[in-house]
Amino acid sequence: MRGDLAGGKVYLVGAGPGDPRLITLRGVECLQQADLVLFDYLVNPAIVGHAPQSAERVCLERHGNRKAAWAESVIARMIEEARRGKTVVRLKGGDPAVFGHLAEEMAALRAAEIPLEVVPGVTAALAAAACSEIPVTQGTSSSAVALVAGHERGDKTASNLDYAALARFPGTLIFYMGVGTAAQWSAALLREGKSPATPVAIVRRCSWPDQLVVRCTLDTVAEMVQSRHIHPPAVIFVGEVMKQHELH
Ligand code: SAH
Repeated sequence: MRGDLAGGKVYLVGAGPGDPRLITLRGVECLQQADLVLFDYLVNPAIVGHAPQSAERVCLERHGNRKAAWAESVIARMIEEARRGKTVVRLKGGDPAVFGHLAEEMAALRAAEIPLEVVPGVTAALAAAACSEIPVTQGTSSSAVALVAGHERGDKTASNLDYAALARFPGTLIFYMGVGTAAQWSAALLREGKSPATPVAIVRRCSWPDQLVVRCTLDTVAEMVQSRHIHPPAVIFVGEVMKQHELH
């Protein structure tokens, strides 16, 4: 048994966007102590290689439509293994605190009195910005950034967003999980008065060897996703700040 404590512990670790060099040193340290690694399918398997040979590795596949049951079974497994004294690393794409179900997992672990540590990672939006040289904040033209959930599988909570406020937002909007719903959220922003000419950049699989960057405008983003056959994972930037820059 490894770990900082005699009992088990769960580390909720951000793996970064894909490139195995973009995990933190603390994240690597946690992996090196792991008895069990539960990793998201978006995580580069090379990162899991930091775990000892003896560690069990479990890739968590897409949850499909049974998201709640899936999340519960992952939490149950973490609790069970930690109670048996294991050091568990729950390795998540990007940063665990950004669209990563951190609240639910922490609540369940705390209720079960399992010690935990959250280790940050480079979130997809900021990795995509750096990897494609988009300055998400700049001088006075963009002094704020909003991370927005577009939701790919028609999740009803998407309609809870206040698009009037988002359309007026004085800065860069960055949509996660927004590929499948590009038609809906772009139409909602246009309806609330955002300019059709607002520059957009779609960044798919940032930091991976097949990273793709596609530029368009708010009124063409849905069409572009279709015609270029863009599939998740991608983040989509919407904002004037892209106007002045060549993207890579
Ligand atoms: N916790 C993660 C986000 C999980 S939600 C983070 O902080 O990055 C999953 C969404 O993240 C995807 O739908 C996509 O919008 C985004 N994403 C994850 N990896 C990505 C990558 N390499 N390139 C572009 N977008 C990515």
